[in-house]
Amino acid sequence: MVILEASGVSFSYAESQDVVSGVDFSVAAGEVVCVLGPNGAGKSTLLRILGGLIAPRVGSVELSGKPVKRYTAKARAQEIALVPQALFSLPDLSVRDFVSQGRYAYRTLFRPEDEADREAVERALGEADLLGLGPRALDSLSGGQRQRALVARALAQEPRLVLVDEPTNSLDPRHQIQVFRVIAGLGCAGRAAVIVTHDLNLASQFASRIVLMDEGCIVANGSVHEVLRPEVLHPVYGDDLAFGQMRVDGWDEDRPFVLPWQQ
Ligand code: ADP
Repeated sequence: MVILEASGVSFSYAESQDVVSGVDFSVAAGEVVCVLGPNGAGKSTLLRILGGLIAPRVGSVELSGKPVKRYTAKARAQEIALVPQALFSLPDLSVRDFVSQGRYAYRTLFRPEDEADREAVERALGEADLLGLGPRALDSLSGGQRQRALVARALAQEPRLVLVDEPTNSLDPRHQIQVFRVIAGLGCAGRAAVIVTHDLNLASQFASRIVLMDEGCIVANGSVHEVLRPEVLHPVYGDDLAFGQMRVDGWDEDRPFVLPWQQ
């Protein structure tokens, strides 16, 4: 079942040329879609269009069959959560209070937290492996913990679709895997995730589908085996890549890996 569908979407900032150009993109329940591509390819812009934060110059975005622009911010937030790369400034909040901001979509002004809110926040903290850290100040967390708090806030929102922008920047390998595991866990029970990332190898391990962007366009869209191969990646990233395959927990097949490697 398709959750989100963008058709013929183009976007430009101010008077400049299109940075997203004629893109068709859909995501169905159960999918974990990783969006790859070089810097400036238009990935973050596409994510913001999909999330309804910016409107395309032409083209349409439909959420559950209805134009995303026809949703109120609150109704949209019950369907889609957008996890930014980082926060510009850290709010002076405990981790728990920060995560409970995700319940905004379900609250009316002045209504205190109810049981459903509390359960959703606890569940989100647990899924993001932050249970013991609820009372801690957000600004006392490590980079990895903070990243997981951003993800937890989105989980608390209980959306059907999570859109995540580069969740593993500046994280060590263990926390990279942990963050991806949490997000990719959303690709079940009727939910889905779209993850913008530079990490070809995390994408290979967690994506059910990969979308490759270059210069505002989608240049490949398929399984990890269809996209993470020399003929597809060399024109986009250049020749300095090495390719291999390895077994990965969770899949009954080898998955490709790609290293930046001088040729
Ligand atoms: P990516 O996420 O693939 O790195 P972006 O979507 O961030 O790509 O950017 C695509 C292009 O749009 C880049 O050329 C970038 O400089 C430009 N761009 C991004 N944000 C803005 C903005 N707020 N104003 C003007 N240009 C922007």
